[in-house]
Amino acid sequence: MATATETVSRPTIRQTSCFIGGEWTPAESGRTLECIHPATEEVVTQVAEGDAADIDRAVQAARQAFEDSEWSRMDARDRGALINKLADLIEEESDELSALETLDNGKPIRDARAADLPLVIDCLRYYAGFADKIQGETIPVRGNFFSYTKREPVGVVGQIIPWNFPQLMVAWKWGPALATGCTIVMKPAEQTPLGCLRLARLAQKAGIPDGVINVVPGYGPTAGAALVKHPDVDKIAFTGEHLTAQRIMADAALSLKRLTFELGGKSPNIIFDDADLDAAAAGAHFGLYFNQGQCCCAGSRVFVHERVHDALIEKIAAMNHERQVGDPFDMNTEQGPQVDQAQFDKIMKYIDLGKQSGAECVTGGDRSGDVGYFVQPTLFDGVKDDMEIAKDEIFGPVMSVLTFSDLDEIVDRANNTFYGLAAAVWTRDIGKAHHIANKVRAGTVWVNCYDVFDAAAPFGGFKMSGMGRELGFEGLKAYLETKTVTVAMD
Ligand code: ADP
Repeated sequence: MATATETVSRPTIRQTSCFIGGEWTPAESGRTLECIHPATEEVVTQVAEGDAADIDRAVQAARQAFEDSEWSRMDARDRGALINKLADLIEEESDELSALETLDNGKPIRDARAADLPLVIDCLRYYAGFADKIQGETIPVRGNFFSYTKREPVGVVGQIIPWNFPQLMVAWKWGPALATGCTIVMKPAEQTPLGCLRLARLAQKAGIPDGVINVVPGYGPTAGAALVKHPDVDKIAFTGEHLTAQRIMADAALSLKRLTFELGGKSPNIIFDDADLDAAAAGAHFGLYFNQGQCCCAGSRVFVHERVHDALIEKIAAMNHERQVGDPFDMNTEQGPQVDQAQFDKIMKYIDLGKQSGAECVTGGDRSGDVGYFVQPTLFDGVKDDMEIAKDEIFGPVMSVLTFSDLDEIVDRANNTFYGLAAAVWTRDIGKAHHIANKVRAGTVWVNCYDVFDAAAPFGGFKMSGMGRELGFEGLKAYLETKTVTVAMD
C-alpha cells in the first residue's frame, strides 16, 4: 500500500490481444496499435488492432454463447454469483488495475484508486443483485385468456466505449448486459484498451463462460463501424461524442438495432448569492477539473450570481494555483495529462479562442511542462454565452465563468445549448433549488453537490446528450425485450 508521499510502480501489462470465444488471438490482419502513456508520450506496448474480420469472429462467438451455451440455460442466481465473483477478483487486484488505468489514461493514481475502481466494483455488485429479480407481469386482458409478460435478454450487444473512464465504462456496460443474460462484443477506445482486456481475463477467471464476453480493440471507423453494421448484433450501447452517435445511428438503421447513447455535455453549474460559497467553489472546481476535465458531465459553464462573482473567482483561482499537476503515478498528483495529442491540441485551440474572444484568462492558459499532454488548470472569467468556449464541449481543464443577476434569466441561459446531460445549482433556498431542478433540461441535476454518482441512480442525457439511461433499473431495462404471452383458457 502506497503512502501519501510514494510514487506507485507501473503495472505489468499482461493482455494485448483480441479476446474472442475465450481465446487470446492476434488481429487477423496482424496489425497492432500503439498504447502511449500520456504523461511521458512513450509507447508502452502494442495491442492487437482488430477490424471487421475480428469483429465478425467475435460476433459469431457471442451469438453462439447466447444461443446454445450454458449461459442461456444458467440459473439467474448463478449468473448473479458469477458477476459477484468478477467483482471480488477486481477488488483483489484493484491496486494493479488502478495502476493500469493510470498508465493507459494518464489519470492520477489517487483518483483511479479512490474513484474508478471502487465504482467499478460497486456497479458490478449492484447489477449482480438484479440477475434473479428480472420478472414480468400478469395482464388483465379481455376474454378468457391468460396473458403475461416475460423480460428476455436483448441478445448479442455491441458495446463501444470511450477513454475517459476506461474500466468504469466497462462496468457500466457489462453489469446490466451480464445480469440480463446478454452476450457481449466490446470495443474499447483505441487510446485505452489495457484495462478492458485485463477485466476480460478476470471475467474468464471468475467462470463467466467463454464467448459471453468478447473484446476487440481497434479504431472506431474500422472495428467500431463493423460492430455497428453487423447484422447479427441486436443492440449497440455507445458512449462518446454526439457526432459519432449520429454516424452510428445511420449505420445501425439498416438492421434497426436497439441503441443507447451517452454523449457529451456543456453542463451549467449555477451558483446563487445565498449559496455556501466555500462549498460551491469547491464543488465547481471539482465538477470541472476532476479527471483533467475529461468528463461528459463536466460543469463547464459556471454561472455565478453577480453579487458573489468576485469572491468565487478568488476562491477558484486559489485552488487552481494550489493544484498539483504532474506525474500521475505520484500519490500527491491531483491532475495528470490529457489522454492524447489530439485532445491536448483541441484544448489548446479552445484556450486560444477564449483569449482571442476577449474572455479574461485568470489562471493557466498554457501547457504544463515540455513532455506529456499536460494543460494548466485554466479559468476564464467574463465569458459571454455566445463565445465558443461557452458553447462547445472542450473536454479539458478549462472553466468558463459567466455572470447572472436573476432567476428568470438563468433558466433560459442554462438551457441555451443542444446538450442536456447534467446541471447543478448551489443555493440555501429550497424553492429556488427545486425551480431550477424542474426547469433545467438535463438528465441529472445536482443540488449543492456535483458529480455524485451511484450505480442505482439513472444517468443519461436530454437532447443531444444521449438516448436512454445507464445505471439503475432503467439501465437494466435497456438490455431487455418484453415478450407478451397470451394463452386461450378454453
Ligand atoms: P472521443 O472524442 O471521446 O474519442 P468518440 O466518439 O470519437 O469520442 O469515440 C468513442 C468511441 O467510439 C471510441 O471507442 C471510438 O473508437 C468509437 N468510434 C469512433 N468512431 C466510430 C464509428 N464511426 N463507429 C463506431 N465507433 C466509433
